Amino acid sequence: MNGKTIFKKIIDGEIPADVIYEDEHCLVFRDIAPKAPTHVLVIPKKEIATLDDIADEDAAVMGHLWLVVRDVARQLGLENGYRVVVNCKEEGGQEVPHVHLHLMGGRKLTWPPG
Ligand code: AMP
Repeated sequence: MNGKTIFKKIIDGEIPADVIYEDEHCLVFRDIAPKAPTHVLVIPKKEIATLDDIADEDAAVMGHLWLVVRDVARQLGLENGYRVVVNCKEEGGQEVPHVHLHLMGGRKLTWPPG
């Protein structure tokens, strides 16, 4: 990978983001182009490019992200439901090569995605 991804720059505080939660292992911030009334990104601080690049040793961190999703969804008032999406590589629609969970809610979401 040449240079830092935009998400690594956010982790390092080099560019601003609307951060709503942070701990040792992850960061949660609002998506700059929201696709739903609530749309945040849950990312590991460890640089992992895609779902395909997750190593066995990343299991605890990736599991932790789901607990953060649960807590942030509550914090954001998504008690009626929400969706979590992970795009993987080009055909999955991934644009930023740093694993991220899209947490979206605040309206009735349709299925299937395009
Ligand atoms: P993906 O297509 O799954 O890689 O999603 C990347 C997401 O990152 C998109 O929803 C973008 O709107 C979002 N995004 C890109 N740059 C920023 C940024 N600087 N701050 C917040 N979200 C961003």
